[in-house]
Amino acid sequence: MDVLFSASGAALAFPVLEEMYGFYDSFVEEFQLACRPGCPLCCTTNIFASSVEAAYLLEKSGDGALRSVDLPDELYRPTTTTNEIARACLEQRLVEDRGSHVKGACPLLGEDGTCTIYRWRPMACRGMHSLSPCTQNTPGADMDPFLMELHLVMYQLIEQLALETGGRCGNLFDLLPSITGSLEQGHLLEPSPFPGLVVMPSNAGRVRAFLRRLLRRIAEACPGLEPAQALVDRVASKAGISL
Ligand code: SF4
Repeated sequence: MDVLFSASGAALAFPVLEEMYGFYDSFVEEFQLACRPGCPLCCTTNIFASSVEAAYLLEKSGDGALRSVDLPDELYRPTTTTNEIARACLEQRLVEDRGSHVKGACPLLGEDGTCTIYRWRPMACRGMHSLSPCTQNTPGADMDPFLMELHLVMYQLIEQLALETGGRCGNLFDLLPSITGSLEQGHLLEPSPFPGLVVMPSNAGRVRAFLRRLLRRIAEACPGLEPAQALVDRVASKAGISL
């Protein structure tokens, strides 16, 4: 089967992805979070990611273990992307993700309850955190509302990066085999362009300040890199940010 997209194209964007991950992780460190190593409660197979992230994970972790990962029969398969949903919100339309989340632990969890690929985990995993300790009986993570919005904005940027490199979005465990050419194309989604910000008015100033610093950092760290420049230009112009 043909490879759906070019892993070498995705590799062009790795420096941008690293800047995004590093900047976001440092920012989140300022919050008082309850998350600790060994708590695996939010580690499921419902991981929305991009081809850039999957290719990065394969390259950095050494792909042997990931190629042979033991997957469940059923996977969450999103039917729309974050930027499509954001565009619908801006146009006052409703678009729903009809994909169903499934139960079950992430196959990349180690026996000690820690992530075996933690340094290279995708944005979906980086953005999951809780202000108070989770238990099996709590309905979900107690997420900071501002960080939840920021997490969605980061998804939007990562989708734009996939678009710049001719990639796809979808479940991480569909993306990984797609890079090796062993997956039906129907499971993955075309990325959509960043349409603008969809955040609460009370958070808009903080989100723009965060984005301004992040975009400047990407521009400074990746001079002359086409996907970086295209991402910075698109997001700055659509989010109304002057750099
Ligand atoms: S990739 Fe790692 S952090 Fe993400 S869900 Fe799996 S075990 Fe958890």
